[in-house]
Amino acid sequence: MSEVAVSRETDAALFDFTVDTLIIGAGACGMVAALAAKEAGREVLILERDPLPSGSTALSAGLIPAAGTRFQREAGIADDPALFAADIQSKAHGENDSALVQALAEGSGPAVEWLTDRFGLPFSLVTDFDYPGHSRRRMHGLPSRSGRELVDRLREACEGEGIDIIGECRVTQLHADETGRIHGVTAMRPDGSFERIGCGHLILACNGFGGNATLVRRHLPQIADALYFGHPGNQGEALVWGEALGARIRHVGAYQGHGNVAHPHGILITWAVITEGGFQINRDGNRFWNEAQGYSEAARAVLAEPEGIAWSVFDTRIAGIASQFADFRDARDQGALREAPDLRSLADQIGVSADALEAAYAEIVAARERASPDRFGRRFGPDTALAPPFMAVKVTGALFHTQGGLETDAAGRVARIEGGYLPNLRAAGGAACGVSGTGDSGYLSGNGLLAAIVLGRAAGNPG
Ligand SMILES: Cc1cc2nc3c(=O)[nH]c(=O)nc-3n(C[C@H](O)[C@H](O)[C@H](O)COP(=O)(O)OP(=O)(O)OC[C@H]3O[C@@H](n4cnc5c(N)ncnc54)[C@H](O)[C@@H]3O)c2cc1C
Repeated sequence: MSEVAVSRETDAALFDFTVDTLIIGAGACGMVAALAAKEAGREVLILERDPLPSGSTALSAGLIPAAGTRFQREAGIADDPALFAADIQSKAHGENDSALVQALAEGSGPAVEWLTDRFGLPFSLVTDFDYPGHSRRRMHGLPSRSGRELVDRLREACEGEGIDIIGECRVTQLHADETGRIHGVTAMRPDGSFERIGCGHLILACNGFGGNATLVRRHLPQIADALYFGHPGNQGEALVWGEALGARIRHVGAYQGHGNVAHPHGILITWAVITEGGFQINRDGNRFWNEAQGYSEAARAVLAEPEGIAWSVFDTRIAGIASQFADFRDARDQGALREAPDLRSLADQIGVSADALEAAYAEIVAARERASPDRFGRRFGPDTALAPPFMAVKVTGALFHTQGGLETDAAGRVARIEGGYLPNLRAAGGAACGVSGTGDSGYLSGNGLLAAIVLGRAAGNPG
């Protein structure tokens, strides 16, 4: 990044050309914002540092939580934004801005249906397992259940609408006057040359700072030594530019971790293997925490165990459910999954104490039969019993993405420290402060793409 994050050079002659709405970043947020801006009749251009759109969006499972959709009604699921908002706040210990939570919950169903109806993205509801903290089944995904498909389909939608995405164009500097009005940006090309592009409105859709080791160590020291599993292009420019512009920063210590990344393969294993009745043991074969808390907290829990690893234990019924995810199938194809006819031979295969593993499972069975929580506080439902053959995968904890950032309203307007909003700057998705509280335990599954899609749409067409 340039040493001067924000330049005071704003003369119109400085810019090679000017567009009405300029968007930095072609992940889900940037492309959704562009589709919304174009629909509102604006001239729009996206600048993306990679040759082709990808971002953390492409690394994700592409699942978007949405309440009150027709997909839910068709599946007989009664849900509404108020329930969803309550789930978000409950997971985040009530630490979020309630107006933002409400706007996200209310905008979620319409956004998913808009992407389906207007741009042909074939969303369907995940109906066969629960995500922790969601009181209803409300995850919507594309057929492959992968973020790569989400990115590719959004890119096709942008192409269909005639929206230009300039790749290999990394924005290094904003140009703003004394009032904070953005006049344009400087972007660097791979050959080291610079382009200057003017704009009427600027939308920051360049995600958070998970890929910037210095910023992670400064703001998230507790996870700084973990594997970073998000996109390397998430370098925190929005935070740096925002600070230089006098923007208000909120919940900068919030992040999403994940404690179920196949090791050493580096493949995300869906948390369904746990919610459906699986559990985690350490290298000695002992349980060590209440997995029902969620996959974000799991990162710290697993990393605190010897060697920072654990084994997730489940069965072939659960593997059948997990197989809908492309990542899980990859893990299987790469040999990350172990299978055995009984727990003792599974323990031998994975090199843990068979007595400890059997004892861990016996404790779970007893808790289920008593219909009471186990000693960690986890309840195992009646339908979650495991049956042979058993399976296991070695996992570690990772940092996925940051959740704090620029404070915005529900239209993505960036708040200033001195009050009010910056005149023509919006931020959304991972570039803005999300609704995941202040640490790692406030992340409700899907909060990332929820903010990218719903706030991205609002930022593109604030009405
Ligand atoms: C492994 C993994 C799994 C996940 N699974 C889910 C899930 O199932 N559901 C969910 O809701 N969330 C999930 N998330 C989180 C989710 O991926 C993110 O919250 C979401 O993708 C953020 O979207 P975005 O558009 O803001 O950022 P991104 O998709 O990261 O897009 C930002 C783009 O900006 C570009 N960029 C950055 N800086 C610049 C610059 N200076 N100039 C030009 N371009 C720039 C980047 O290259 C990138 O393409 C997951 C994350 C990970 C890592």
